[in-house]
Parts: sequence; C-alpha cells; structure tokens
Amino acid sequence: MSTLTLCSLTICLSIKAMIRPITHLLLHFIAPGIVAKFTFGERWKSAWLIMALTIIVDLDHLLANPIYDPNRCSIGFHPLHSYLAIVIYLVLSTIPKTRLIGLGLLIHMALDGVDCIWI
Ligand SMILES: [Zn+2]
Repeated sequence: MSTLTLCSLTICLSIKAMIRPITHLLLHFIAPGIVAKFTFGERWKSAWLIMALTIIVDLDHLLANPIYDPNRCSIGFHPLHSYLAIVIYLVLSTIPKTRLIGLGLLIHMALDGVDCIWI
C-alpha cells in the first residue's frame, strides 16, 4: 500500500502518520461529550467541559524525553498514566464531588489505552 503524502519544496508530511494523533486528540474531546450527553441530562455541557479539561493530565508528558513520541504508550509510562494513578481515578469516580474528574480521567486513560493498541 502506498503512503499518501503532502509535499511542498522541503517538507513532506505523511497523512497516514498524522491520522492517528489527530484522531486521538479529537477523541479526547468527542468521547467525554458523548458520555456527558447520554448520562448527565441537562448538565451535559458543564459535565463535558470538566471531563474534557482532564486532558491537562497530559502535562506529565513534559517530564519525558522526548515530550511526545508517537510510538510510545502513555499507559504505565508517564506518572499520571500509571496503573496506581488509574486506580486513584477509579476511586475519584465513585465520590460524588470528584465523579466528573475521575470519569474524565478514566475516559482519557481508556482512549490512551486504545492508542497503545493502535501503535
Ligand atoms: Zn494521556
């Protein structure tokens, strides 16, 4: 199968290589929106916003070198993506006051886990 490429004089970007990270990033906003819409009734917009904002958990990537590696699995590598952290997110999702944060983080980890399979 040939790789579709966009080329200018010196820069060639592989569309195939961009599809996964762009899809992954979009899913970090779309998936919480879908969950919020179907489970939080009229509060869905604020629920979506809180869950989508949990993407700041990716700040732990700043501790890694390189900061972004498309072939690295985040789960179990970055501190806020560790298995212990995921257990804490599970606990947070059971406490009413932190439920949305915990749920958003669990959705985030699930999407990152799917991305690990896609690598
Ligand atoms: Zn992540």
